[in-house]
Amino acid sequence: MRSAQLVPVFNVVCVMCSRSAGQIVCGRFVRRATARPPVRGHDGSRCGECGGNLYLEPAESVTQFMASQLVQPPRTDGAVPLRAA
Ligand SMILES: [Zn+2]
Repeated sequence: MRSAQLVPVFNVVCVMCSRSAGQIVCGRFVRRATARPPVRGHDGSRCGECGGNLYLEPAESVTQFMASQLVQPPRTDGAVPLRAA
């Protein structure tokens, strides 16, 4: 039996405004497209909205496939690649 290996995911949440700045997937920060990116403070990353401290909140694990989709989302800008005529 093959079981899909699950990847732990953490939500990156601000303690001040409780906005989610993104997620940590496979140890990589994945920015939430609708949120301001965190800013770098001298003691770590801070909320891009209010400058509050960020903390990691354990989220539901995802499969390797879903993790790869999260880390490298499929391009949605050019719907169909143009072919050279
Ligand atoms: Zn904040």
